Amino acid sequence: MEKIELSKHVKQGDTFYTSFTDPNGLGDKLCLSSWAKSRLPEFLWIGLIIYNQGRKNGFENLYCIIKDLECEGIAIPQLSKIFELTEERQRKYWSIITQYVEKNVLMPLTTVITPDINEIFYDYFFDFSMNIDDNILKLLDIAKESNRLHDELSTDICFIVDWFYVLNGNLYISSEIDILPKALSEYYKCTHEDETMRMYRPVIRSVCQNLCNFDCSKMFSEKIWKVLGKISKCNPLRIVWDEEGKMGFYEITKKTIEYFSANNEDKKMESKYNVIMGMTCYIYKIYQEIIEKKLQNDISGRILFRTMLETYINLKYLIQQESKVPDIYDKFKAYGNGKYKLVMAKLREGKYTVSNDSQIDEKIMGLMVNEDMDEAFVNISIGYFEKTSVRNKFKECKEDKLYEIYYEYTTNFAHGFWGAVRESSMLICNNPAHLYHCVPDYNVDQKLRSVLSDCEMVMKKTFDAIANYIELPDFYNI
Ligand SMILES: [Zn+2]
Repeated sequence: MEKIELSKHVKQGDTFYTSFTDPNGLGDKLCLSSWAKSRLPEFLWIGLIIYNQGRKNGFENLYCIIKDLECEGIAIPQLSKIFELTEERQRKYWSIITQYVEKNVLMPLTTVITPDINEIFYDYFFDFSMNIDDNILKLLDIAKESNRLHDELSTDICFIVDWFYVLNGNLYISSEIDILPKALSEYYKCTHEDETMRMYRPVIRSVCQNLCNFDCSKMFSEKIWKVLGKISKCNPLRIVWDEEGKMGFYEITKKTIEYFSANNEDKKMESKYNVIMGMTCYIYKIYQEIIEKKLQNDISGRILFRTMLETYINLKYLIQQESKVPDIYDKFKAYGNGKYKLVMAKLREGKYTVSNDSQIDEKIMGLMVNEDMDEAFVNISIGYFEKTSVRNKFKECKEDKLYEIYYEYTTNFAHGFWGAVRESSMLICNNPAHLYHCVPDYNVDQKLRSVLSDCEMVMKKTFDAIANYIELPDFYNI
């Protein structure tokens, strides 16, 4: 399907809808259907014949089969419909098939069409000497080759289904449309490589889609997938990402930080210095933890990167606001102390208690809250610092891309939203019978693309942001 541009989405409330999902448009009438999920199992027997006999022989034999079936008044392609016939007619159906097709061609189906689904079919085709694993593999092959409606085998199956409807008189062909009769009569003569097939294939498929809509049983298909899903194992695939990262910049960063610590004696008593270098160190420490603890391909790497980003934007925002709000650094510290005070006071006042082993230490928090001034003078703000949301801070710092791409993406990881869960903790199963579902990554196999290069970008931006206030060493000339 063609991708829809963001600007073509329609906003309603806090949701952007596409033209397919717009509740005032197509949205409530749209019923998503899937070829593999709801139809393919009905026609697996046709797939097996084409798969085993090849297109040419398969088509020729199926054509004869349909004609013979029609003579008996039982030319229907759907297994669920065949199973509704009387016992005698069902036996007739399969006896006609086996005039043209060896029994072992349809035998794999007995692994999924068990006696409780249809005893006649099972008794007719089951063979005690058959190798169950081989038969399951054969079905999986068919499922893989015809999983999508656009697959060549799917189109071949559609072609045969179309012919069922032509020969049983249920497909009316308008004389004004010449492409359909042509497609129906020429399709089997062409190979899939032929140029004309590009024209025939969509016609064959869309006719089949229209004809089958009401005759296929979704329930039957689901039942077959369920059995096949149960008897075949998951085959989870993981994406392998390179764990190596460029280490050069990290070494320069370490030396730059050492340079900062050896200089700047003159500034060390200033609030501004405290805040700017405190935040720079915070960003650096996270960067350092990611590298030293090799977290670059882990979930934690992404969450840590997001914190580097948020700290950087706060730092840049402070520096930018300094001319308008001269005591911005003291205010920033007081704002943070207020946040600590709120938690600490709830513990001190007994609203909640935490275990002695908890990471939270009420006394240490208390010391920090009272460090700059007695807590009696520390306000508690529950809003944003300087009433500016994170989004707006990025905007005012002209870092929209950092927000709209990097921050929004990693927010999924910080909040455990589905995209992040899917990318990091779910693996796609390569078993076609499982309809490409996802399985949880129980063995912790899936790694993520490294965050190192993005961390490097934020670290560089941090140095750029402080460069007017803190002298960078000569060797730092990136
Ligand atoms: Zn699976």
